[in-house]
Amino acid sequence: MSPERGKAAGATGGVRPQAGPEPSYEARPVTTLKGVGYSLAQRLAKLGVETLQDLLFLLPLRYEDRTRTVPIGSLKPGDRAVVEGEVQLAEVVFRRKRVLLVRLADGTGFLTLRFFYFSGAQQEQLQRGTRLKCFGEVRRGPMGLEIVHPEYRRADGRDAQAVEDVLTPVYPATEGVQQGRLRVLTALALKEAAAHSVRDWLPPELLQDLRLPPLDAALEYVHRPPPDAPLDLLAAGRHPAQRRLAFEELLAHHLSLRQLRRELQRDPAWPLAGAGELERRLLESLPFSLTGAQQRVLAEVRADLAQAHPMLRLVQGDVGSGKTVIAALAALRAVEAGYQAALMAPTELLAEQHWQNFDRWLAPLGLEVAFLSGKLAGKARQAVLERIGTGRVPVIVGTHALFQEGVRFNRLALVVVDEQHRFGVHQRLALREKGAAGGRFPHQLIMTATPIPRTLAMTAYADLDVSVIDELPPGRTPVTTVVLPESRRDEIVERIHAAVGEGRQAYWVCPLIEESDALEAQAAEDTAAALAEALPGIKVALVHGRMPAAEKERTMARFKAGEIGLLVATTVIEVGVDVPNASLMIIENAERMGLAQLHQLRGRVGRGQHASSCVLMYRAPLSETARERLKVMRETTDGFEVARRDLELRGPGELLGTRQTGLMQMKVADLMRDADLLPRVQRAAEVMLERHTANIAPLKRRWIGAGTRYGKV
Ligand code: ADP
Ligand code: MG
Repeated sequence: MSPERGKAAGATGGVRPQAGPEPSYEARPVTTLKGVGYSLAQRLAKLGVETLQDLLFLLPLRYEDRTRTVPIGSLKPGDRAVVEGEVQLAEVVFRRKRVLLVRLADGTGFLTLRFFYFSGAQQEQLQRGTRLKCFGEVRRGPMGLEIVHPEYRRADGRDAQAVEDVLTPVYPATEGVQQGRLRVLTALALKEAAAHSVRDWLPPELLQDLRLPPLDAALEYVHRPPPDAPLDLLAAGRHPAQRRLAFEELLAHHLSLRQLRRELQRDPAWPLAGAGELERRLLESLPFSLTGAQQRVLAEVRADLAQAHPMLRLVQGDVGSGKTVIAALAALRAVEAGYQAALMAPTELLAEQHWQNFDRWLAPLGLEVAFLSGKLAGKARQAVLERIGTGRVPVIVGTHALFQEGVRFNRLALVVVDEQHRFGVHQRLALREKGAAGGRFPHQLIMTATPIPRTLAMTAYADLDVSVIDELPPGRTPVTTVVLPESRRDEIVERIHAAVGEGRQAYWVCPLIEESDALEAQAAEDTAAALAEALPGIKVALVHGRMPAAEKERTMARFKAGEIGLLVATTVIEVGVDVPNASLMIIENAERMGLAQLHQLRGRVGRGQHASSCVLMYRAPLSETARERLKVMRETTDGFEVARRDLELRGPGELLGTRQTGLMQMKVADLMRDADLLPRVQRAAEVMLERHTANIAPLKRRWIGAGTRYGKV
């Protein structure tokens, strides 16, 4: 079967049909809109927007209140505000690149506007004496408060205009498509939708007991909230209009995964039910015995493998709970039956880590473990491919290079995927196709450290059975967590100094800037530079999302090798990366991150015999809920407990900008926040599968259509 990657009919190209009826307005390509040419269409496609329907369902990430101007003197770092003032000074300075700095004052204080990219025309416009109205996020800069790349307009002459009178939607951005443009385009799409009315794919019987607003009203509302919209509710994503859309989106994903699972389970697989001799020998050779939880999960895996249809099992277990050894034991089942097993990790570094473990465990049993990654080239690669193809190596560990063209397995009976939320379902499917030789499909074992409660798992992983390793091996020293305000930065820097002085290593995680990875990268660069200055004698390095993958990997590898004392990173740092010598984790703006993410990040330390700590830095003042959330982190290091308390704490009135679960990329729904909808989503799915199957495909296309892929973080 081919996974659900359908695009709306007519979504490609910009040609109107010559004859025949006009296709549904929803399927019209965006190029039929005024002002959308080929190049803009290309850029929109990166956001998954190809048709009018896609535009209509491109939903705001959040809203900004630009209904009033704020005195510069009252700004605090982290504020997102409209300010108005006069340009006192504008100059271009040369760092590594040219930077335009503009000093803006309004009588209550001054502020720097910083531009890394600017045109001659902009430079011309931003002259001393010009009055400007700007909007942006205020942060601390080298010369006091600043805004990087503010949205601005002249506030004098004929351009003068009041601030907005409705809440301003902020859309997911992509390179080269400005927010303003997205607002214009969504307005056009809304107009079309109003003219034709939006087709509702939920059957009336479901709509009745949903008791949420109709689809078209909900769409209009979330794109253009009226001036009197309840800000708190909207910011928290709990407005009925948002809930209506979230329900549909969750339903679409749930249905999609359910169908996928059904199709996969119809396939034949090799039953792997040997005597377990190899497994016994590995267990005997380990310096530890399995925990009760590991034993239980292993039994579940064994039972699945003995079936004649593919295992589709997810093993959830907190960081350090010992998932790898379960994978190795499962692989031995395949090997013993005369087949191959492959393990796929999301990065080179993690793959190498697994390879070393597997080799250490399996070589004494006389089994060869091959390693395959994108780095491997030429003759060496040919040799490995040859050994895989002829079946001479029974176990293969690698990155996504495993399912690239040219890789041929020989009776692949088991695929293990580590840290699945870094892979899409589709990549997993591709590997499955690789094993499909001889009409049999490989068993699949997926391992993840993302702890999510049961009801959530039923939706997020509706295509999988779930096993949980809910126990850590004995003898770990839990990570101590401290919560400190940003004002005590010096103290925190001192902690790094002390840790590195003792031969340990540290991570520093910079805040996520959701709507711009360019700004995020810039902020991380600034932080790394400042810390390098504050910590002479300590080797500081940086990784962020904009770096080429190879460079990131290189830096991570050097950190792992102990050549780097402090690693400054955006939230990209590898899930599952094992640097036992790292004993200190510092997370900036922790109050803005989700608990699940904080827990994942904290899991990078506490992996060696050294006492480790995690510093959660926050920016005062803390809201009540933010305070509670940080308290949870201080009180427990158990991932499931963190997830449970997270769910409890989430409620209206709290601003959580990010869709933190990272399990599925969703537009409006948040698995954690909208967990209460899930039982109804599951019931609705039954109804659709039983009586309204024709509505399923268009619903899925609408929500999962062109841009969204499962499980990519
Ligand atoms: P994760 O679940 O995060 O992938 P790993 O599989 O990397 O965890 O295991 C973390 C460490 O714990 C490894 O060094 C592993 O060998 C060790 N380990 C696994 N199971 C046990 C156990 N039952 N007792 C003691 N140590 C164990
Ligand atoms: Mg692991």
